[in-house]
Amino acid sequence: MDLVEVAKKLFDEGVEVIIGYQGNFNVKPIFAKANEVDKLTFNPLCIYNLTNYLTMEGFVDKVDKIGVVVKGCDSKTILQLLDENAFSRDKIVVIGIPCNGVIDVNKIVEEIGEFREFKDNEFKIKWEGDELVVEVNGKSYKFPKDKILLEKCKVCETPNPVVYDVLVGNLIQQPHRKEEFKAVKEIESLSLEQRWEFWIKEFEKCIRCYACRNVCPLCYCESCVLERLEPEFVRRAVRLDENIAYHLIRAYHLANRCVGCGECERVCPVNLPLSLLNKKVAKEVKDLGFSEFLKPIEVGR
Ligand code: SF4
Ligand code: SF4
Ligand code: SF4
Repeated sequence: MDLVEVAKKLFDEGVEVIIGYQGNFNVKPIFAKANEVDKLTFNPLCIYNLTNYLTMEGFVDKVDKIGVVVKGCDSKTILQLLDENAFSRDKIVVIGIPCNGVIDVNKIVEEIGEFREFKDNEFKIKWEGDELVVEVNGKSYKFPKDKILLEKCKVCETPNPVVYDVLVGNLIQQPHRKEEFKAVKEIESLSLEQRWEFWIKEFEKCIRCYACRNVCPLCYCESCVLERLEPEFVRRAVRLDENIAYHLIRAYHLANRCVGCGECERVCPVNLPLSLLNKKVAKEVKDLGFSEFLKPIEVGR
């Protein structure tokens, strides 16, 4: 069954709303009701981790049964949120999609043009082996996979959802791509002074827009310690010392919780290497023996 067929069945079974993707080139999240089921789509531009919406204040309590579309990386968030009792498992129907990777759209617009130059419904995009095939304005373009994948997808260990109630498509049979903290090890090989210089340069760039926190599905405290005024742990001033405090506190709050979905890094307007920071903490946790790496599990209906 394809996504729309799966969704139709779920609506018939009592799901009230499905959080999924809509659009072809101009992909956006949708909270689809039964009458919007045909809008649901999935393609290599479905980047967002939609599980972020599950922790919107009061949302899950207002709806009896919610469907949510997840890729492999997003599905790890569901396990973490369940572990934290963020919501009841009965409320959520996990629609898992085995994933061949998502792409950096900026890497294809140079060739195909901006969205305003064509209609969204005339745009088609799909994986064909190791190539991305795009059809638009009567032309067909091909892009090699390794050139356009997001970095996280190049080292993805969980292309298949680690938890799902229904699966759209077939599980992907491929060896896990082990990264083993390659980028972290490179930084660790530098001297203390060099590392300090590296991170200072990065933290100086931060404009404290809070996009990284807002997009993070695991940053869902009702009152964030980083914005609290009484007591004021971190000032909101955009200054190096305050920026360092902001990032280190956030990294510690996500220790052994961050699932590596990469959303924080993707939305950062000044390109801070936030995944590197998160992975450094993950490596420390692993080295201390506290980390329980998520093993793929299948949860049937
Ligand atoms: S990290 Fe894995 S599951 Fe997530 S988008 Fe990339 S390939 Fe898909
Ligand atoms: S998204 Fe980037 S600029 Fe904004 S607060 Fe986070 S690190 Fe700073
Ligand atoms: S810190 Fe970044 S990578 Fe980790 S869960 Fe949050 S958004 Fe995803």
